[in-house]
Amino acid sequence: TGHLSGKVALVTGSSRGIGRGIAERLARDGALVAVHYGSNEAAAKETAATITEAGGRAFIVGAELGVPDDVDTLMAGLEAGLRAHGEATIDILVHNAGLNLMGRPIEVLTPEEFDQMVAVNIKAPLFLTQRLLPRLRDGGRIINISSVSTRIASAHGIGYPLTKGALEVFGHSLAKHLGPRGITVNSVVVGFTRTDMTAGVLADPANLERNISLTALGRIGQVPDIADAVAFLASDDARWITGTKIDVTGGVNL
Ligand code: NDP
Repeated sequence: TGHLSGKVALVTGSSRGIGRGIAERLARDGALVAVHYGSNEAAAKETAATITEAGGRAFIVGAELGVPDDVDTLMAGLEAGLRAHGEATIDILVHNAGLNLMGRPIEVLTPEEFDQMVAVNIKAPLFLTQRLLPRLRDGGRIINISSVSTRIASAHGIGYPLTKGALEVFGHSLAKHLGPRGITVNSVVVGFTRTDMTAGVLADPANLERNISLTALGRIGQVPDIADAVAFLASDDARWITGTKIDVTGGVNL
């Protein structure tokens, strides 16, 4: 049993990519993990199976974010899963699900595309947090997955970095509000990491080389590089850290 045994975590978008890595790591540390997905149920089941085969505990929750009633759907699935495991509250909330419509500089970005990224990257985390506040145990953790594009001007457009910047400000403001309950709120700033989201860009050797050359440590990030940092923020070791962000990018643009 790890140091998170007895704790319950919800990781949005943990069917694939960084979210999956976070779910697997938190489960390895002992937490019961709600593996949330949007549409890829098979991938979510795979994450949960990997966890249970390793001796951990997990259940899946399906809810497309950024559509009407998204938070209601997620809450219904979460509550059912918690009940089935004899739980009613959560300790760790990781806002990881994100939408990056790449290649949309200001010249071509449409209001609809912008609304879609706002709905998934900001509105869903905000109102999911609102609904979960009564179920989030004192001393808990909220961790936002942000992007290095809030620090360096992005090649991929204007909408996505704006939403991630808003997510960081959300965390900063919320940390003050939830401090009296001993709940910490922080953001993990992620650099270029190998997942489905970046597979297309990284398939181009020139793009791959350019992104490697931006880092101090000289490689592309891997999912565990991010998951381990999230696990630290979720742990008791990070109890005195709140309202801030950690740059987990291998030193991009130092
Ligand atoms: P992936 O595209 O590989 O995975 C996205 C995950 O989020 C999937 O589990 C997906 O579920 C879920 N998801 C996406 N949109 C929705 C939606 N509308 N409703 C519900 N679930 C949704 O992404 P990454 O793992 O690469 O990214 C994870 C986070 O890290 C994101 O917030 C991203 O912005 C951020 N990030 C990633 C970087 C990178 O280089 N990869 C860099 C900086 C930040 P499903 O399987 O059902 O589709």
